[in-house]
Amino acid sequence: MDLRTHPDFDDHEEITFIADPASGLQAIVARHRIWNSPSVGGCRMRDYAGESEALADVLRLSRGMTYKSVMAGLDYGGAKAVILGVPPAEGRAALFRAMGRAVDRFRGGFRTGVDVGLTPEDVVVMKTQTRFVAGAGAMAPAEATALGVRESIKASLARRLGSDHLRSRRVAVQGLGKVGRRLAELLVADGASVVAADVNRDSVAQARRDLGVEIVDPEAIHAQAAEVFSPCALGAVINDASLGEIRATVVAGSANNQLAEPRHGAALAGRGILYAPDYIANAGGLIAVAADLEDKREDWIWQKLRGLGPSLTRVFERAEALGLPTAAAADRLARELIAETGPGQRSAA
Ligand code: NAD
Repeated sequence: MDLRTHPDFDDHEEITFIADPASGLQAIVARHRIWNSPSVGGCRMRDYAGESEALADVLRLSRGMTYKSVMAGLDYGGAKAVILGVPPAEGRAALFRAMGRAVDRFRGGFRTGVDVGLTPEDVVVMKTQTRFVAGAGAMAPAEATALGVRESIKASLARRLGSDHLRSRRVAVQGLGKVGRRLAELLVADGASVVAADVNRDSVAQARRDLGVEIVDPEAIHAQAAEVFSPCALGAVINDASLGEIRATVVAGSANNQLAEPRHGAALAGRGILYAPDYIANAGGLIAVAADLEDKREDWIWQKLRGLGPSLTRVFERAEALGLPTAAAADRLARELIAETGPGQRSAA
């Protein structure tokens, strides 16, 4: 397929195909916007069905990073790296050394970090080859993401139910990984009643034991009677099959690309369900990475995290005024901000 007619191509400024036959590394790095600054986005690894699936993923995710950045009041161009295929354990270190060298060849124009499929150890290996991998700064990205999702849930509840309190609210958390587990903990501390699911038995057992949360079958979590459904596992969970079964009045979580297709945003709105666009709700991770890149302290992170609720409220108001689904209103706002941010506009390179 001609790249420029690819349905997910959005005038991406640079797409790099990486191959390292010695280690078996195959990867794609997409820089959606470069501007004057490093382009920023995580590195993900999956057993993709093929190169075209990986290409679609990296194009979509890198564009999403630009949207996330401008909506969080940051001015990094979005980027992403995808590694095609999970190597055998004995080849893993060599593959991530090769990936580290590939990242280094961008000479700081692309900064990356951990994303789905990578472990903190993989990042440590990459760091032996390059200094352009962001790690934990003043706050771990997953912690900041969970805090940002909590802000987003509160702003959505305020909009939908007139009050942002969490006490006695019921929240269904899908996924008890780094973000979902911490979110569940925060919500329990706020007095919410949490029902959760994960396909990993250990995560489920730990959450039940340590937090006392109710556990349900992963197939049933989206259909719980709860005020909030919080997807914190996979993308595309709002789809034709799940849509009619969602009973929550708010959908707000950390997973990227929660809507299987844009029309599912309209369908949620049609059912009276308020959707907090994912790239605003989960911007905490990028905020934490930005803090690491810019040597900012925790108070700067908190200030940015507290901005996510008002940012969502602006989107909700705009969606209502324009008669648009919230995801479409957010995209429109993000595109306006991107047009304003263009090359040469960034204050500090
Ligand atoms: P993670 O890999 O630590 O956790 C994901 C969890 O989801 C795992 O425990 C996994 O077992 C579970 N899971 C997988 N399939 C499931 C299913 N069908 N039903 C229920 N649970 C299932 O990942 P994470 O860092 O917690 O991130 C969660 C989501 O948030 C991802 O989509 C990620 O892209 C997104 N996100 C994460 C960050 C971050 O800072 N970590 C930032 C922004 C967005």
